[in-house]
Amino acid sequence: MSDKKLHPETLALHAGYRSDSATNSVAVPLYQTTSYQFDSAEHAANLFALKEFGNIYTRIMNPTTDVLEQRLAALEGGVAALGVSSGQSAATLAILNLCQAGDNFVTSTDLYGGTWNLFANTFKQMGIEARFVDPSDPDAFRKATDDKTRCYFAETLPNPKLNVFPIKEVADIGREIGVPLIVDNTAAPLICRPFDHGAAVVMYSTTKYIAGHGTSIGGVIIDGGNFDWEAQGDRFPTLNTPDPSYHGAVWTEAVKPLGPIAFIIRARVTLLRDLGSAESPFNAWQTIQGLETLPLRMRQHCENADKVVQFLQKHPKVRNVIHPSVQEGEAKRRADAYLSGGFGGLVGFELNDGLEAGKTFIDSLELLYHVANIGDARSLAIHPASTTHSQMTAEEQVSAGVTAGYIRLSIGIEHIDDIIADIEQALAKI
Ligand code: PLP
Repeated sequence: MSDKKLHPETLALHAGYRSDSATNSVAVPLYQTTSYQFDSAEHAANLFALKEFGNIYTRIMNPTTDVLEQRLAALEGGVAALGVSSGQSAATLAILNLCQAGDNFVTSTDLYGGTWNLFANTFKQMGIEARFVDPSDPDAFRKATDDKTRCYFAETLPNPKLNVFPIKEVADIGREIGVPLIVDNTAAPLICRPFDHGAAVVMYSTTKYIAGHGTSIGGVIIDGGNFDWEAQGDRFPTLNTPDPSYHGAVWTEAVKPLGPIAFIIRARVTLLRDLGSAESPFNAWQTIQGLETLPLRMRQHCENADKVVQFLQKHPKVRNVIHPSVQEGEAKRRADAYLSGGFGGLVGFELNDGLEAGKTFIDSLELLYHVANIGDARSLAIHPASTTHSQMTAEEQVSAGVTAGYIRLSIGIEHIDDIIADIEQALAKI
């Protein structure tokens, strides 16, 4: 059965696995093992030489994680994937797979705070420059590009502004110059398909919607197999020049017989091998349990979020509601162009009153959890001005899209009447 013909609901349950070759188990087994016995000395030598694919050591590959990787690659329309220990690790490895000291990449300013810190501080200490540009102007990516630019990076649906990134506009600029776009699609699985719009690599924090149950940190990098690294020659020394850590392999040449998977193979056999941020098989297994119901959950997240938006828009204590469904102008055009089947589960709103009103609202919630997380099956809320963005000045907060009375909601899949009743009673306490 070819995965290509199947719908997301089916792929989420079937892609990458039929039954266990050893036991016929229908559910994906949890292979909680560190290592795998080689059949013979020759078998071991072939595995290490990449002449044959197979299990060596769980830091580099694991049969349970492999199912998760194949399933996510199929759902995303990519050619191969790499499961890693967290979303942070996915961003780190995706960038380090292309950038070395002295190189740069161009990134949208609208990023998750952890990604911002990684790019602005840790990569800087490593000699890699992140060039931050305003995502509302795609041409800013072109202007910031030079010979040392190895990639572009952006989030599909970054909060708190929830302005959908102009994926095609920036991917097209990149393809013209020979620079790939990496998209963090954490907030929009299934409702956005970045490869359809020209992205070369997609990454997720699977910790959020993909797992959904809020039990397991994890991340994934998915290779679109649609970018010609070799044609760009000097632009990609990590892929096009001999790798001293792998007996001089040139990844674009060495991997060619296996398909257009040089990017993901190099990330696995060098970066994951050396940096060690492997996904625990248990977390991969847990993530598979969540993934199997992702299409159902995403529908409910989106439907519930739309109803919360409608409720908040009519509420006298709410000044403004932030959600792709109610944006105007270019922001709405992009939301319509890049999201389908829903506008996502994240909702922002601004209270008429400021900081104290925001804190009172949060303290009055009884059903919604007060956590610094998104994408859980449960509804979540946070007041960024007094928490995640509290170290910023008032002006910095405003430019990040956070006002004193801004509340971020991650709407879950509970019954919509219960979600709205909780928000309503908390608003009444202000
Ligand atoms: N990307 C986005 C959009 C996120 O929201 C997060 C975490 O909140 C991450 C990446 C990092 O993921 P993790 O917490 O799994 O490391």
